[in-house]
Amino acid sequence: MQNTHVDVAIIGGGPGGYATALRAGELGLSVALINREDRLGGTCLNRGCIPSKALITATRAIHNVRDAKRMGIDASIQNIDVAKLADFKNHAVKAMTDGLASLLAARKVTVIKGEASIVENHHVRVQIDQMQIEGGAFDEITADNIVVATGSRPRPLPGHRFEGPLIDSTQALDLPTLPKSAVIVGAGAVAVEFASMWNAAGVDVTLLIRHERVLSHMHRRTSMALTRALAKNGVHIITHSHLTDIDDSANSAGATVRYSSDKDKDATEHQIQADVVLAAIGRDPNTDADWFTSSGIELDEHGLVKTDDFGRTGQPGLWALGDITPGPALAYRAFEQGIVIAESIAGRDPKPVDDTTVPEVVFSTPEFASVGLTLEQAKAATDILEPQETAYPMMGNARMLMSGEAGSMSIVSGAYGDKPDTPVVLGVHMLAPDAGDLIAEAEQLVGNRVALSDAARLIHPHPTFSEAFGEALLKADGRPLHTR
Ligand code: FAD
Repeated sequence: MQNTHVDVAIIGGGPGGYATALRAGELGLSVALINREDRLGGTCLNRGCIPSKALITATRAIHNVRDAKRMGIDASIQNIDVAKLADFKNHAVKAMTDGLASLLAARKVTVIKGEASIVENHHVRVQIDQMQIEGGAFDEITADNIVVATGSRPRPLPGHRFEGPLIDSTQALDLPTLPKSAVIVGAGAVAVEFASMWNAAGVDVTLLIRHERVLSHMHRRTSMALTRALAKNGVHIITHSHLTDIDDSANSAGATVRYSSDKDKDATEHQIQADVVLAAIGRDPNTDADWFTSSGIELDEHGLVKTDDFGRTGQPGLWALGDITPGPALAYRAFEQGIVIAESIAGRDPKPVDDTTVPEVVFSTPEFASVGLTLEQAKAATDILEPQETAYPMMGNARMLMSGEAGSMSIVSGAYGDKPDTPVVLGVHMLAPDAGDLIAEAEQLVGNRVALSDAARLIHPHPTFSEAFGEALLKADGRPLHTR
């Protein structure tokens, strides 16, 4: 056994772990980043953000070809070469993971492949299997600070295992052929993105959702607009439904999915046949190893690590971030958490992570994006005065009209109690092509509590999608221009 000592040992090489490592390296700290997989980047780079967006980029091209007829362009899809599509996706993944590896090397981060565990309570030591680093092999690291970023994994349907035609999102990204038909169980970002991309690729998609709309925890008007847009594009959405059984015992490939619906007076059972069934009902945190509790890390009732706003677990020198912590499970939120943890360790004085200004983006067609408060949340807040919501009719925007996509734009405004005469932008919720990019401007306004009157003075180029946001701000400020 050999020992080494670093300022920061990080368990997990996904967005949370690697962002911490990059910032800590930049600040001159000695850092060891331990990842159990060959490739760095965790879920996001290997089986999440990057591969899914590569496939979405490709399937949007299909969508655009089909849509071209509307503009007098007679084009058709001859063939989808699934092997080439996989190459395109894998190339994007490789480029991003290779780039990350060289960035970490440039910041002098020691990357170690192995299964890490914290072996002694209150001591920041890491036990590593089969570890090889420059200068020899050893299996123990001591560190002044240990950062846990072990991420999450797909949640199985109760009583079912991912096998045969029942697949998780990781398997769905690597299918050797496109299914003819798919049932997707779930209504969150992953379910909606797969429904949208598979539908564009010509798969017969049925989406089983519990409530009346997808993204039911998000802004109502916007998520209703997205639900209608998906249905208009051809996704069969079964609302108020409950999965009762998945039967793959028949000789034919695929499965029979049985479900009931709250809309039926009796408990009628319906069934659909599909080549694959994608369960996308959420993710479980990788916090079940014994060392979590033995090292004194406190978990909440969902198995998530309790931390303060700076990522401290309550145990000295022990930090946690990313999907294993409560809050939005998103790579870009983990990046900011990593920066805050690294700066805190380095003795800087970072601002804590503010989860209320983390935008939520769903890369469906059209895209859904949202930041800040809904009207209901603003009304429930005790320090907000006269909250109100302004809806802008998106079809008044020239580019929206040309796009042929559905759209929605809502702005929530109101004044904070300490500045009662200055209404600010509290929340923005939109459905539009490229809403994921448009939301960045809204995030600046919401995050910096910009006065509504100042925000509405900002000029937006014409004709752009972003202009719709400018027009909505004018309307919210009581000065509508191209709308009533
Ligand atoms: P992870 O990325 O899960 O990384 C954890 C790492 O730790 C893994 O490499 C794992 O192998 C390693 N590990 C675990 N335990 C140990 C151990 N004991 N020892 C050593 N290593 C260990 N987010 C976005 O922001 N934008 C998107 O567009 C987006 N799209 C997504 C699409 C899909 C299909 C999915 C599933 C997720 C998507 N996400 C997206 C979410 C995003 O991927 C996660 O929020 C993010 O990866 C979480 O980062 P993390 O560092 O907490 O964990």
